[in-house]
Amino acid sequence: MSENLEQVCGQCRYFQTVDAQSGNCHRYPPTYAGDASPRETHHWRYPLVSARNWCGEFLARAA
Ligand code: SF4
Repeated sequence: MSENLEQVCGQCRYFQTVDAQSGNCHRYPPTYAGDASPRETHHWRYPLVSARNWCGEFLARAA
């Protein structure tokens, strides 16, 4: 499959930028990420994805 540069995570409604190349996907609620952190809020995380990645749940941002 060829890469569709218009339907990548960086252009998705569920993407929240973390830095120039990656962000968190907010399509679904946070998932349990282990108990290594002493702070309860760090136990649940949104997946970190590359801005150039993609998935079948892509949704275009509102115009
Ligand atoms: S993983 Fe899918 S739903 Fe999440 S930001 Fe990327 S394209 Fe959007």
